[in-house]
Amino acid sequence: MYLVLFGPPGAGKGTQAKRLEAACHLVQLSTGDMLRAEVASGSALGIKAKDIMEAGKLVPDELIVDMISSRIDDAEGEAGFILDGFPRTIPQARALDAMLDGKGLKLDRVIELRVDDEAMVERITGRFSCASCGANYHQKFNPTKVAGLCDACGGDRFDRRADDTMETVRARLKAYHDQTAPLISYFEKKGNLLSVDGMAAIDDVTRQIREALD
Ligand code: ADP
Ligand code: ADP
Ligand code: ZN
Repeated sequence: MYLVLFGPPGAGKGTQAKRLEAACHLVQLSTGDMLRAEVASGSALGIKAKDIMEAGKLVPDELIVDMISSRIDDAEGEAGFILDGFPRTIPQARALDAMLDGKGLKLDRVIELRVDDEAMVERITGRFSCASCGANYHQKFNPTKVAGLCDACGGDRFDRRADDTMETVRARLKAYHDQTAPLISYFEKKGNLLSVDGMAAIDDVTRQIREALD
């Protein structure tokens, strides 16, 4: 199964992709995670991407397409993949179509998480993750069971993303509306768009997605 999880920053793409990855044996391909790894490693791509990401803007299409295409190649032979955070522009969507055509593959579904902008600010500014294992949390909506300890690994150090600030969120939402939201009608025309209510609780969103895919 080949899926795209689509939605504005903070919509819950990463949260739902991890759950689908575990339940459906798919590989999560997150361009945001890949870019953060490039930044952390100090690679040439990371150096180019760092300031753009911290300003809440989109990294140029050709860099993203180069980065993801080898990862899509690597995922061949797996049960499928979930793209999280890609495509984010019309040229990226066209490049994805061309990549999949070349392999004789087809996207099964594009799952859009529908959410309100105002809620996104709170989602993003409350987000944190475990420094040891990367598990994702939210200070209000998805806290650790024991304060200060990661549920998954017991770690006690946590990270916040450099771009998860009030100022950057505004720029990211603007980039979403200007450059990414036009993809909704692109996917609608292809007939594989599935919209779910991303404002519901995390478990309810998972249930909506699972029901729609079954
Ligand atoms: P994205 O990958 O779309 O940017 P995340 O999955 O990282 O979004 O979610 C953003 C934050 O909101 C995280 O802290 C996450 O725990 C929390 N979150 C995700 N889905 C929901 C939801 N349905 N309701 C409330 N909080 C959520
Ligand atoms: P979000 O939680 O905002 O959905 P991501 O982790 O997907 O964030 O992406 C973080 C940042 O990485 C984006 O704001 C952007 O700068 C860059 N980025 C990630 N994916 C893409 C993409 N497909 N095209 C361009 N830039 C991207
Ligand atoms: Zn952990």
